[in-house]
Amino acid sequence: MEINLTINRTTAPKQKPADENSLGFGRYFSDHMLMMDYKNGAWSQPRIEPYHRLSLDPASSVLHYAQEIFEGLKAYRRADGSIVMFRPWENAKRLNRSADRMCMPPVDVDLNVEAMRRLVELESDWVPKSFGTSLYLRPTMIANDEALGVHAAKDYIYYVICAPSGSYYATGLAPVKIKIEDQYARAVKGGMGFAKTGGNYACSIKAGDDAVKAGYSQVLWLDGEEKRYVQEVGAMNMMFVIDGKLVTAPLDGSILPGVTRDSVLTIARDEGMIVEERKLSVDELMDAIKDGRLTEAFGTGTAAVISPVGVLCYHGVDHVIGDGNIGKVSQHFYDTITGIQWGTVEDKYGWILKVKD
Ligand SMILES: *Cc1c(COP(=O)(O)O)cnc(C)c1O
Repeated sequence: MEINLTINRTTAPKQKPADENSLGFGRYFSDHMLMMDYKNGAWSQPRIEPYHRLSLDPASSVLHYAQEIFEGLKAYRRADGSIVMFRPWENAKRLNRSADRMCMPPVDVDLNVEAMRRLVELESDWVPKSFGTSLYLRPTMIANDEALGVHAAKDYIYYVICAPSGSYYATGLAPVKIKIEDQYARAVKGGMGFAKTGGNYACSIKAGDDAVKAGYSQVLWLDGEEKRYVQEVGAMNMMFVIDGKLVTAPLDGSILPGVTRDSVLTIARDEGMIVEERKLSVDELMDAIKDGRLTEAFGTGTAAVISPVGVLCYHGVDHVIGDGNIGKVSQHFYDTITGIQWGTVEDKYGWILKVKD
């Protein structure tokens, strides 16, 4: 797609982090960012500018009423030096579904993907080389009316920043300990659980913080009404292998429709595994653990791809999943998806966008 993109290159390139093994996540940012402004009912043409601070009025609506959405996707450098992105169209479409829920204007999907591709191309020196590392893209849209009235804003800013990020698993797929949250709620029916919006995170921080203090890495949310059905983990969807079937919560409006979730389900169905997108009660889950019918549990998300769960804590009791190590099914999905990303497994679903040879 041909787009009208202005590029204003930095005259002061930053020093790149020297050690790819200690990049961490979202701590360094590249030289440029993508920007678009929404004013008078229309988006401006996209422009790439030197990375810079935003100047917002203290009354800016995003700061008061949290009308904001974001996305997260990655660009990878393959062994042959080429750079690719994974299913960016899905992120661009989801951004617009989030935008609709938050009463914000959509961004043309093709324009958005091509503008992000051009940004990554310009920042190609910022895409790290080691296996497992990536350039993480953070598209963000904020409301920016300079007034305190509570209503949909008229002015918005859309921008994309890039963060070279380290391998999630420096030493292989290490299982995590997860606490099932029985006190706080993240999302309710009719709420905004399916939207990637800061508010869902703001209301999660306390639960996550308590879990970390108790020795767990994240919480597994239950439905907001009955605290009975399993939903998802902080920034990952959850999957369980029960009686050899892959079970995950349905997209009922309160969980985030993850791109990785969809990728896993697509591969599983294609390979003949039985997939059940259905309500899974925490009681059924506990029974399946006790009976030994639950053999694996794992989270899915862009950051880690697959995150095996070794321990699930419910009402203060730790339950070890399988033998506490990564299971065969989890490993297989991890290998397949990262293989497609790194070019060692055929991309038969058309999930790869080439950025640069
Ligand atoms: C982003 C996110 C996910 C994972 O989605 P992916 O597209 O797979 O990265 C899951 N849950 C929540 C709440 C999220 O914000």
